[in-house]
Amino acid sequence: MTYETVIGLEVHVELSTASKIFCGCPVTYGQEPNTKCCPVCTGLPGALPVLNKNVVEYALRTCLAVNCEISRITRFDRKNYFYPDLPKAYQISQLYQPIGRNGWLDIEVNGTKRRVRIHELHMEEDAGKLMHDPWEDQTLVDYNRCGVPLLEIVSEPDLRSAEEALTYLEQLRGILQFIGVSDCRMEEGSLRADVNVSVRPAGSNEFGTRTEMKNMNSFKAIGRAIEKESLRQIELLNEGGRVIQETRRWDENKDASFPMRSKEDAHDYRYFPDPDLTAVHVSEDWIDQVRRELPELPADRRKRYIGELGLSDYEAQIVTGHPVISGLFEDVYDLTKLAKDTASWIMGEYLQLLKDKNCGPENLSLSAEDLAAVVSMTAEGKVNRVTARKVLAAVIEDGVKPQTYIEQHGLAMVSDASLLEDTVRRVLAENPQSIEDYKNGKKKAAGFLVGQAMRALGGKADPQLLGSIINRQLSEA
Ligand code: ADP
Ligand code: ZN
Ligand code: MG
Repeated sequence: MTYETVIGLEVHVELSTASKIFCGCPVTYGQEPNTKCCPVCTGLPGALPVLNKNVVEYALRTCLAVNCEISRITRFDRKNYFYPDLPKAYQISQLYQPIGRNGWLDIEVNGTKRRVRIHELHMEEDAGKLMHDPWEDQTLVDYNRCGVPLLEIVSEPDLRSAEEALTYLEQLRGILQFIGVSDCRMEEGSLRADVNVSVRPAGSNEFGTRTEMKNMNSFKAIGRAIEKESLRQIELLNEGGRVIQETRRWDENKDASFPMRSKEDAHDYRYFPDPDLTAVHVSEDWIDQVRRELPELPADRRKRYIGELGLSDYEAQIVTGHPVISGLFEDVYDLTKLAKDTASWIMGEYLQLLKDKNCGPENLSLSAEDLAAVVSMTAEGKVNRVTARKVLAAVIEDGVKPQTYIEQHGLAMVSDASLLEDTVRRVLAENPQSIEDYKNGKKKAAGFLVGQAMRALGGKADPQLLGSIINRQLSEA
């Protein structure tokens, strides 16, 4: 029997507001433990929460960006449970009147478009962080994260593969970064997902029983966890067993998930409206104002790049993958008016540099002017691409200007046809065996000769011109 995988995601995103959701403590990461908290966020008796208006504004931005209906009256509820990282013994969240409902995001995977419905979007506070120290056999708690504002974005079970789930997450992350509500640094836990997975016979209209893997914060692990969990469920069903609804823990090192707790010992959260906080009235004016201030969303930008600049779907996808990258593309394009070349440099050399340096786009110091100069000079044939790559590296390492570097190192491209002809003639004379090989059908021999000639010309030759001269001289040889 063939099975279909069904996935629903609950995404938690930490908002990058200056202060926490119900007190004036700053939102920080990586600070000395327990130095960014106060009586409110540590839940001392008698302390009262006051809602941070910016959190609601960020939530509104997100609602609009993911097409949610916005509740005109929204409230906060207490979710009661005891855990050492939650000093109040309840989390302030939203159950009955979340700020957003019935949204959607369109994704496309391998040419198949799918609308992923968003069940709801709500605001809540984060809990603290426990640190287990196995050597000392003790657990320490850091309350700095208590009260950091979170949005939870709950999808309907509309996703059908790991690839779709990752595409949805990437798209969502791009939107959240573009509208400036979160940096979405997964390694710092500012974007994490609860992953719900079930399987059902292909063609069936009913859902199978799902399991849930909580708090996952790496795309790679999420993709892998979905694949392994659906395989586990399929095997179980094929053996005549049944899936039990439970929370499972994904162990990245073991590449497998393990049961954590079953539904039978699920919490009863005893939700009730928080009496310390009044309802929030969201006016039409406020919504309009937030809508007006919303930047162009990545999906709209992609459409514009494809329609007006002639980029392919794939190119448009990559250059709108992150707001800093997208900003760089816009600025370099403005300077060069070369959409395809700019996209090609960003997708090739620029992303490779980020990878080599293991840094995010916000941490690479490269001005649009400098990248534009490199792109233009390459397109105009002033330097060849291999040389231009070295120039770009030097620009980033030493902060030199591309033009200056090229002049100082004599890197301008050699397109002097007679010089190239002479050099090729010499290289052919020195390599009779290669000519022989070429004539015997070993076309690779031409590549070798191009390499030799390029070396003789200090790597600066116009590669196209050189290639055509070699081909011609070979055919005449
Ligand atoms: P809970 O609040 O108990 O976690 P919900 O019904 O609100 O449960 O669902 C939470 C998440 O689980 C949602 O993202 C939803 O899409 C997903 N989900 C629900 N049923 C299934 C299913 N059968 N298979 C996969 N995901 C599911
Ligand atoms: Zn505080
Ligand atoms: Mg859940």
